[in-house]
Amino acid sequence: MIMSKVYLSSPHMSGNEQKYIQEAFDLNWIAPLGNNVNGFERELAEYNSMEHAAVVSSGTAAIHLALRLLDIGPSDNVFVSSLTFVATVNPVLYEGANPVFIDSEADTWNMSPEALKRAFVDAEREGTLPKAVIVVNLYGQSAKMDEIMDICDEYGVPVIEDAAESLGSEYKGQKSGTFGKFGVYSFNGNKIITTSGGGALVSNDDEAIQKARFLSTQARDPAPHYEHSEVGYNYRMSNIVAGVGRGQLEVLDERVNQRRAVFDRYYEAFKVIDGFEFQPELEGTFSNRWLTALTVDPKKAGITRDDIINALDEHNIEARPVWKPMHLQPLFEGCSYYTHNQDVSKQLFENGLCLPSGSNMSQDVQEKIIQIIRDLIPAN
Ligand SMILES: *Cc1c(COP(=O)(O)O)cnc(C)c1O
Repeated sequence: MIMSKVYLSSPHMSGNEQKYIQEAFDLNWIAPLGNNVNGFERELAEYNSMEHAAVVSSGTAAIHLALRLLDIGPSDNVFVSSLTFVATVNPVLYEGANPVFIDSEADTWNMSPEALKRAFVDAEREGTLPKAVIVVNLYGQSAKMDEIMDICDEYGVPVIEDAAESLGSEYKGQKSGTFGKFGVYSFNGNKIITTSGGGALVSNDDEAIQKARFLSTQARDPAPHYEHSEVGYNYRMSNIVAGVGRGQLEVLDERVNQRRAVFDRYYEAFKVIDGFEFQPELEGTFSNRWLTALTVDPKKAGITRDDIINALDEHNIEARPVWKPMHLQPLFEGCSYYTHNQDVSKQLFENGLCLPSGSNMSQDVQEKIIQIIRDLIPAN
């Protein structure tokens, strides 16, 4: 069977994006700001029941702005989930600060509250308390936000919630990305909704979000000429890109349902297979199931995670290992790391697999993926 490449997650337009882009053209509001930027910020904040949002050129830029707003600089410590994409941590390095990595726990695959607590106890004793904690919600599943917020509040340390992968997810009925001082979303091409590239910073702190907009447009002081007293960036989202975002946001809930349906079909097909364990959906949480992720125990399943990746690759289908934890990356050699009990994130990396999960993947293609995997399993 000849198939065009099947991606883990590919863009899925609603059709309405064009309408918003056309409006921008009609008004000649191509750049820099305008109706769509303001509209997208308002609609995104509303969707998440937050007061304010600033839309920017990427999720990475939004994380960087959050760190700047928290005044993080050289030799400051920042606690970060180890099991994540490097974009969570790169901005810590931009500011010359030190990441301290926190392991995952099996219930959510996200930051272990136990490991976080131990990191805080040590830091307090050594006088090296962090200036922020960055919590990641992996593949759409929320971390244990109550436990994590309690610990961070106890030490008075602000939380940045990296919800790049969990837009539309919930924790105890509240939208993902709205628990900390700042929340971050991404609209990169592979995310649940996309603007081709973009991101957002949300907060209930009006002043902070205004400052984020100021920093993301080269930090221009109010004056008739160009006056600057601090370092700024060219991070603002354009009015065209924001038009794509408005069209996408309209179908976000539909996309969440479609991704969850993809997950359900994989789950029904593989739940009987010994050694396959799906990323859990913790009670009281609602995952957007951005990517269907599972671990494959080779001893029980008789095949490895890599066997599956290779077999799918032969059919031009993309599957990938779970993120390689940051504490195992050469870039972060020598950084501190707090494990849960054993090194959970390392184990998830070694056996973890992400399957194609696009909301526009046909059921026929998914059936084919399921069949290819079934055929690999001994005695099936
Ligand atoms: C995608 C992603 C980001 C970065 O978003 P960009 O918009 O690509 O800069 C940050 N953190 C996580 C966990 C991500 O998956």
